[in-house]
Amino acid sequence: MKDHLVKAVADGVRVHAAITTNLVNEAVSRHECYPVAAAALGRTMTGALLMAANLKNKECTIKFNGNGPLGSVVADANPEGFVRGYIANPHVNLPLNEKGKLDVGGGVGQGILSVTRFTGLKDPITGSCEIVSGEIAEDLTNYLYTSEQTPSSVGLGVLVNPDLKVAAAGGFILQLLPDTTEETLTKLENNLAKIRPVSTMVKDGLDARGIIAKLLQGFDKVDYLTTTDLAFKCQCSKERIEDVLISLNEHDLKSLVDDGHAEVCCHFCGEKYQFNKDELTAIYNVSQKFKDNKANN
Ligand code: ZN
Repeated sequence: MKDHLVKAVADGVRVHAAITTNLVNEAVSRHECYPVAAAALGRTMTGALLMAANLKNKECTIKFNGNGPLGSVVADANPEGFVRGYIANPHVNLPLNEKGKLDVGGGVGQGILSVTRFTGLKDPITGSCEIVSGEIAEDLTNYLYTSEQTPSSVGLGVLVNPDLKVAAAGGFILQLLPDTTEETLTKLENNLAKIRPVSTMVKDGLDARGIIAKLLQGFDKVDYLTTTDLAFKCQCSKERIEDVLISLNEHDLKSLVDDGHAEVCCHFCGEKYQFNKDELTAIYNVSQKFKDNKANN
């Protein structure tokens, strides 16, 4: 099944659901994640896609800055369905938690969750809150309620095989609209209590529409709006890496020129960019010109 995201609305509620198995698998293999890191990264990337799908906003960056062994977990997504992600320590092994599940909460630890929305018009808006459990979905639910005053329910799941391949990944975000009635709320709570975990639903072959149908069981009319294809895509390029190199200080740049070769790895996707002596000399010269211009102004 291709990765995809479906948006739907029904009486008093809006739902986005996504299947992200392939893109999470790509991120997990690019970063060589062990299972607990794979689950943390995959859930965060899926959450970012679901939150970016909101019409009002453009890009969305989610960052978990916890004190657990995984270190920071970051994902960037946009409404076109592209996402990239990064985890500081992908090689972490932890015993299963008391429920027999991957201990994502223990891996993330305590700290701050921040969410940045790039609206494209003004400066980006960043909101933050304390990490509640580190289990990602619960934290995003809490963030949306406390920082964005949007009562929501977020579900995320990643199933990792022993060979470190991702067997299933996906999620949903369910938001109450201002006109929600008590009756709708009760119906939703009942549905949420009886649905299977997201990773199980995805593994059993449900698509995003199928997940929405489970969440909205008993609703008279569900309007399925758009379906968007999803993919892992990094925004890095050799030109962008050059810009980073140009901003290095003179001493560091000079020593790269003297080495005659530099390899720069994009931490979001693991892509390696090579620079030879001629390229590094050109970058060095540009950076000196910038500095001269600044000094003259
Ligand atoms: Zn990259």
